[in-house]
Amino acid sequence: MFYETVTHIGGTTEGNATEGQALWLLGRAVRRNFDIDVTTDGGMLISWTAHRQVGEHVTSHPRSIRLRPHLPVAKALTDATCSDLLLIDSVRDAQYDPIKRVMTGGIWLIPPAATARLRARGLVVVDDRNQVRQSLTAQIGLFARDHRTRTTEPDGYRYPPGGGARRNSSASVAICECGFARHTSDRDEARRHITGHRHEVSGEFARALVNALTPA
Ligand SMILES: [Zn+2]
Repeated sequence: MFYETVTHIGGTTEGNATEGQALWLLGRAVRRNFDIDVTTDGGMLISWTAHRQVGEHVTSHPRSIRLRPHLPVAKALTDATCSDLLLIDSVRDAQYDPIKRVMTGGIWLIPPAATARLRARGLVVVDDRNQVRQSLTAQIGLFARDHRTRTTEPDGYRYPPGGGARRNSSASVAICECGFARHTSDRDEARRHITGHRHEVSGEFARALVNALTPA
């Protein structure tokens, strides 16, 4: 489950959204080319501009839907937990054994303590046939880990290492965990590059998720 904050023309509305509703919102965002940004807690921000005709004029309004998971996953995604989640994703028929309280899939077995942790933190979904899959928050969290971004602090006034007059540098670098990097002349520009990169990779991720759910 997610906490849902909808920003519309009249203000904001708070509510809840299920995993199914979150996927529906992502599908709509992909179809309408809205900006999507997925976050390491397993949540997302979908934003777009709404245009409204008022008499002769068209006015534009920023709109957004933010989903924050009831169980944020960022801290739960330790290296060991990520490995277990990748195991679950590696086979089609990962199973939960309700008697031994373990998860299995072909040649691997996730022991009871780790199995309990995966379930308690909402990282997996077990259906009524005891089939196991990664939850949406786990999928988002795993993806967003690979795209943690930052911009570097500009040097400001500095003496060049070789001597000479003091210089002011406002240069900043936009950096992403995946290897993306852009050298820019100021931090605002670096932030724009980072936002663009986040929207690009989040959009691709959402498209792949939504396509995987649509029967061919
Ligand atoms: Zn990246």
